[in-house]
Amino acid sequence: MRAIQISHTGGPDVLEYVELDPPSAGDNEVVVKVHAIGVNYIDTYHREGAYPLPLPFTPGQEGAGEVVEVGPGISEWSVGDRVCWAMVGGSYAEYVAVPLEALNKVPDSIDFSQAAAAMLQGLTAHYLCTNVYPVDQHTTAVVHAVAGGVGLLLTQMIRSRGGTVIGTTSSAEKAQRGVDAGAQHVIRYDKEPWAERVQEITGGRGVDVVYDGVGKDTFEGSLSSLRPRGTLALYGAASGPVPPFDLQRLGALGSLIVTRPTLGHFMADHTERAWRTSELFGAIESGQLNVSIAASFALSDAPEGHRAIQSRDYSGKILLIP
Ligand code: NDP
Repeated sequence: MRAIQISHTGGPDVLEYVELDPPSAGDNEVVVKVHAIGVNYIDTYHREGAYPLPLPFTPGQEGAGEVVEVGPGISEWSVGDRVCWAMVGGSYAEYVAVPLEALNKVPDSIDFSQAAAAMLQGLTAHYLCTNVYPVDQHTTAVVHAVAGGVGLLLTQMIRSRGGTVIGTTSSAEKAQRGVDAGAQHVIRYDKEPWAERVQEITGGRGVDVVYDGVGKDTFEGSLSSLRPRGTLALYGAASGPVPPFDLQRLGALGSLIVTRPTLGHFMADHTERAWRTSELFGAIESGQLNVSIAASFALSDAPEGHRAIQSRDYSGKILLIP
């Protein structure tokens, strides 16, 4: 089969398109013929060696496709079933062995590209606004990078729970994307003193929660945008990691809560993952949630996919198609 392999870490060009032996289904696994693969920031961290993996490895965490082989111990799935997954390593390939505990059915009305696009970013948006800071109609939230993959989905989910979204972004086109997704306010954080604008918009009260996937460049402003006892959900570092921080400051800033959540801890077991995925697909099927695909590249063009997600030029999901 054809797959992407990384034999040394570095820039996008270390993503090599190679011939590998296809996997066979081990105990409690199925082999899937992959139809669509999601590109995520974590793939770039693996590629760069920021989160080191043993070399050589095939990157990628999510995808969707059709079961072609069922391993021993599996009775729930059959050849031909349409499935998708997140947090399964080695997904940049024509065939992937997926463990039973990661398998989800793709509803008939959802195509493989939408399913692959929805999983990792959609499940992240879901746990952020359902569990990290449960949003209701009284909630006002800042969503940084509002036109990004997580940002667009999170904005829609906050709105469907009745909350108010103040989005941030870096271009007029992306600002419009944020408004189209439901954000009531969008601030150009590349141009405006955005934390001051948040205070103006909230009448000096501050917001209940900041969802911050940008990290280094926004961290201080995020803290000063919160109301007393507000929550900063620092879920990513698109601009770089936040430097060491003196926790004592949280008292003076208003008894703030700062958390650094990770998807794996919010899909702790089969029941939690299945519940989150069914809510995600239910929202897509009902038309409440729109999954926006920014660009699809051939699997052989994986370096372009990585340049795209790191470029800030795209709004929505980047896919690879085998
Ligand atoms: P996005 O599609 O949101 O892309 C990142 C966005 O960050 C860019 O589009 C850009 O938006 C903004 N940004 C700000 N500064 C920079 C910079 N210096 N370089 C590049 N981008 C910048 O990506 P995702 O939605 O996939 O992921 C967003 C973040 O969430 C990432 O940090 C990712 O690692 C994290 N993440 C965390 C998870 C978790 O469970 N903790 C799970 C999934 C993702 P703009 O131009 O509007 O500023």
